[in-house]
Amino acid sequence: QGSLTVGELSEKLGKDSSEIIKKLMMLGVMATINQQLDSETIELICDDYGVEVEEEIVVDKTDLENYIVEDNEEDLIVRPAVVTIMGHVDHGKTTLLDSIRHTKVTEGEAGGITQHIGAYQIESNNKKITFLDTPGHAAFTSMRSRGAQVTDIAILVVAADDGVMPQTVEAINHAKAAEVPIIIAVNKIDKEGADPSRVMQELTEYELVPEDWGGDTIFVPLSALQGEGIDDLVEMINLVAEVEELKANPEQTASGTVIEAQLEKGRGSVATFLVQNGTLKIGDSLVVGTTYGRVRAMVNDLGKRVTEAGPSTPVEVTGLNGVPHAGDRFVVFTDEKQAKQIADLRSQKQVEEDRGSSAKVNLDDLFEQI
Ligand code: GDP
Ligand code: MG
Repeated sequence: QGSLTVGELSEKLGKDSSEIIKKLMMLGVMATINQQLDSETIELICDDYGVEVEEEIVVDKTDLENYIVEDNEEDLIVRPAVVTIMGHVDHGKTTLLDSIRHTKVTEGEAGGITQHIGAYQIESNNKKITFLDTPGHAAFTSMRSRGAQVTDIAILVVAADDGVMPQTVEAINHAKAAEVPIIIAVNKIDKEGADPSRVMQELTEYELVPEDWGGDTIFVPLSALQGEGIDDLVEMINLVAEVEELKANPEQTASGTVIEAQLEKGRGSVATFLVQNGTLKIGDSLVVGTTYGRVRAMVNDLGKRVTEAGPSTPVEVTGLNGVPHAGDRFVVFTDEKQAKQIADLRSQKQVEEDRGSSAKVNLDDLFEQI
């Protein structure tokens, strides 16, 4: 999938841009010289001139993925799993996140300021795990709609006194679409009327079958409120993470995804990044969403200033020129000028896409009136 502007295409073809614009008009496309053309349109024009479209022509300069350098297999090392907690409202997602954090973070970091940055990391048996603290559904829906995949493992919380509910099913569908392994946390086992086996029974309908019943889904009965079963859950996460063989190259320039971002008084644009590959450093130039930025300061999930953030680390970043969206990708560039150029191209493209979609809406309105 690629794109070129009309001007760039005319240059490549050695034709006058006005000629290209005319041809586009005949195809029903009204274009200016700076208009981005999609690969399909480019192909039509090239066909018309009897020119083969080479791969190289259609490299999309605005697609950040095209700037990511592939790693050599031997440079990859194990990285922490990134976990999202999902489930029906009131089944105990927030309580579970708090419980995991309290049992595994504050005990070692007595007095440490626990700061909300949209994600946190724990360490157990010398293995780190990153938990996304944003509502699980948002992590999947908004991020996946932007093509980002941040989650390695989904924890599905199902209250043992309530069983499978509509948002439980929704969560299953999201996790399955993303092809991530699901661990079932059967919560609230302390409650009167709790019936874990009913939860198991209900979930078999969704091909989530416990090992004891011949399936391969891990079920962990727990009480997020009382802290029972939390250690088992963490152990199971580590087990699944090991099977998944999650790896990254810390020596690479950093790339990753925005977890959340907002404008803050006195600090400007503040964004939480999940570094997915490489190591993010103070002073790094990057493109995120449609903006350019330079990492001014980084704060980790404990509220401590850091100078580096490696793979699977969530970190709050300041120094961006704009406020990105959750799910936007970021990529570090060694060439600051190039980063600025690409950010400009991306914001131009965004403006055009927005204009295009509003034009479409107007056209629809028109047809409705007719
Ligand atoms: P969320 O909507 O999924 O984030 O659910 P919350 O974590 O806010 O929990 C909803 C309610 O269930 C709260 O009143 C919690 O205190 C309660 N709760 C959560 N986990 C447990 C548990 O293990 N046992 C009991 N008895 N109550 C729980
Ligand atoms: Mg909640």
